[in-house]
Amino acid sequence: PVPVVTVDGPGGAGKGTVSSLIAERLGWHLLDSGALYRLTAFAAGKHGVALDDEAGLAEVAENLDVAFPVADGAVQTLLEGEDVTRAIRTEQAGERASQVAAVPAVREALLKRQRDFCQPPGLVADGRDMGTVVFHEAGLKIFLTASAEERARRRYAQLRQAGVDANLSSLLQEIQARDARDTQRSVAPLKPADDAVTLDTTRLSIPEVVEQLTELLAR
Ligand code: C5P
Repeated sequence: PVPVVTVDGPGGAGKGTVSSLIAERLGWHLLDSGALYRLTAFAAGKHGVALDDEAGLAEVAENLDVAFPVADGAVQTLLEGEDVTRAIRTEQAGERASQVAAVPAVREALLKRQRDFCQPPGLVADGRDMGTVVFHEAGLKIFLTASAEERARRRYAQLRQAGVDANLSSLLQEIQARDARDTQRSVAPLKPADDAVTLDTTRLSIPEVVEQLTELLAR
């Protein structure tokens, strides 16, 4: 079977950065499953489908026309041929993604698409339910977490660096609201898989986290 490493955890714990570094180091494929939920929410908005229209959202997810071409070493995200790489990364897009992610039929529609990323020589899968649902047979399952305050600070620093005005306390509130929705939903709630290794990154740098994961992989 194709080896899979799953990296789950709340938003802002460093999953995205760490997963892409590990995938690069191993020469494996990378699945950013959150992007699929962000894209579903974005496509729904584009096609006038309301976020409480469950059948409509499922259809949008089923027919999602996306591509992830690599240009100049960076992954681009195309929706129906349109470059939405930045547009799907806003706080609002994340909030809308977490709303569509609570719809069971949407999760079901995205399941096969996610599993199709499992190709030789291996896959690093980043998300919320990679180890619990989508790749529950993965050989190594990581649960990355960090305090909500630290995650808000990281997001704040990221936004400031990108020249975006941000407010630390409203970022913290947004993070807490998204955590609550992701952990309390009835389908695939955010939680570590029984056989996951939990890593609290509150006091760790990205290279330190990558180092620890590389050690776990070598076992
Ligand atoms: O990780 P990211 O912030 O891009 O994910 C956006 C939202 O998509 C999350 O808040 C979560 O609700 C949802 N999601 C999910 N399952 C995944 C990945 C993301 O429900 N595997």
